[in-house]
Amino acid sequence: MEAAVHMQDVTYVYVTERGATLALEHIDLTVQPGQFVSLVGPSGCGKTTLLSLIAGLLQPTRGEVQVGGNKIVKPSPQVGYMLQHDYLFPWKSILDNGLTGLRLLNRLTPDTRRYTQHLLHEMGLGHCESLYPQQLSGGMRQRAALVRTLATEPDLLLLDEPFSALDYQTKLQLEDLVSETLKTHCKTAILVTHDISEAIAMSDRVIVLDRDPGTIRKEFAVPDAMRRAIPFAAREVAGFHELFNEIWNELLVMNGEAEKDGEATGQ
Ligand code: ADP
Ligand code: MG
Repeated sequence: MEAAVHMQDVTYVYVTERGATLALEHIDLTVQPGQFVSLVGPSGCGKTTLLSLIAGLLQPTRGEVQVGGNKIVKPSPQVGYMLQHDYLFPWKSILDNGLTGLRLLNRLTPDTRRYTQHLLHEMGLGHCESLYPQQLSGGMRQRAALVRTLATEPDLLLLDEPFSALDYQTKLQLEDLVSETLKTHCKTAILVTHDISEAIAMSDRVIVLDRDPGTIRKEFAVPDAMRRAIPFAAREVAGFHELFNEIWNELLVMNGEAEKDGEATGQ
């Protein structure tokens, strides 16, 4: 089977009037279909850039990005992107928001409309179809945004800190819902998060990125027992805290190195 995502020796440089920033360097990453991978790392290490490359919103300066075996040169409906901010249209009902992607792709039919309503129902928003975003809580809005993303049936979901603006309880509930929904629909997912617990609880693999330039520093495999558990329960599985500490220490060591570099260069 083709890999869901394959990045080969990818480098990305932002060029602006003020100069060039080497955001990512020599990224090699392969994600298999159905896998859930999390990316953690300090601010500015290139996590969003990496997702934007996979989404086809940016083109690599060097190297190649493939999704489902095809080189990505522009955004494709195969890939769904969900961000921290829900970007729902305030003047559209929740159902209409959910149908936005289908309309854009010219794929709105009675069947796809029914499927969107089914997803709303699955996400506990069946009774909210005709409500407007401002009438919903933050967690409900993020669920509506997820419905909009899933309605076009992408194979791959890119999730850029989708839970970070939510209160803790809502975030935990949403982690379980998203995890179960993605498993039920056999999706591949890449999640960016600052929350190490969330990364471990939701993923098969946790990848730690380093900064200046953004590189893959280390990868952690999540043990089977944690992967099988729903995210909430995964936190109670033996070995969870040890893995948390390993990742935490990796980030601490990285911070220490960055501070030393800063002192050496007088920053
Ligand atoms: P993260 O998501 O991990 O916080 P980003 O991918 O947003 O990191 O950014 C990686 C690096 O690229 C940072 O140094 C950031 O300042 C730089 N960068 C991001 N977007 C742009 C842009 N549009 N123009 C120039 N530099 C950018
Ligand atoms: Mg980011």
